[in-house]
Amino acid sequence: MPPKIGPKRMQRLIDEGVDPRTLPTEQQLDFARTMARILLPPASEGRPRRLPRHLRPRCMARRRDGRRCQAKVAWDTAQDRARNTTCRVHGGLSTGPRTPEGRRRIAESNRRRAQARRQAQAQAAEHASAQAQALAQAQAQAAARAEALAAYQAAVAKYEALRQHPMPDSRFKAALMEVQKREVERRYQVCLDCGVDPRA
Ligand SMILES: [Zn+2]
Repeated sequence: MPPKIGPKRMQRLIDEGVDPRTLPTEQQLDFARTMARILLPPASEGRPRRLPRHLRPRCMARRRDGRRCQAKVAWDTAQDRARNTTCRVHGGLSTGPRTPEGRRRIAESNRRRAQARRQAQAQAAEHASAQAQALAQAQAQAAARAEALAAYQAAVAKYEALRQHPMPDSRFKAALMEVQKREVERRYQVCLDCGVDPRA
């Protein structure tokens, strides 16, 4: 329960530039009552001092477009206070379920809704983790492919460097080239003579 909004706290909120309509309904009510106590003349001529209509807080319900309902809360004129935190079209006039059957139905409905919410949350979490896993897998596969290609290109480059090396053609150079060529062809299943790259 937040502290009551008396004259001091109200003044501080005003100094801080807080819009009282952004406060929770109970605090909006405190704010409005304090404001009314200060602004209104004392009760006179048998007419009780009432909270002015324009200071009544707004309905807490969400509209279908996701914004807050703009109507005033349902008002108990006899006691000069809000009956509820919602307007007359959003259940502010309702006194809630009274019969055992009605109370049971509401409890049942609340249970079902809570269960559905928990299920949806669990499903969303599962979905997110599956997506993250798939993404990590795809990234790992791409990295492995890039690594394999780089290794292949390095092996071929080594063979090419050998072939173009300025050392005189000799049985030694030929043997070196043969070793590297066989290594590349065995490991990557290609033929360096036809220059066919199976990956292309
Ligand atoms: Zn409303």
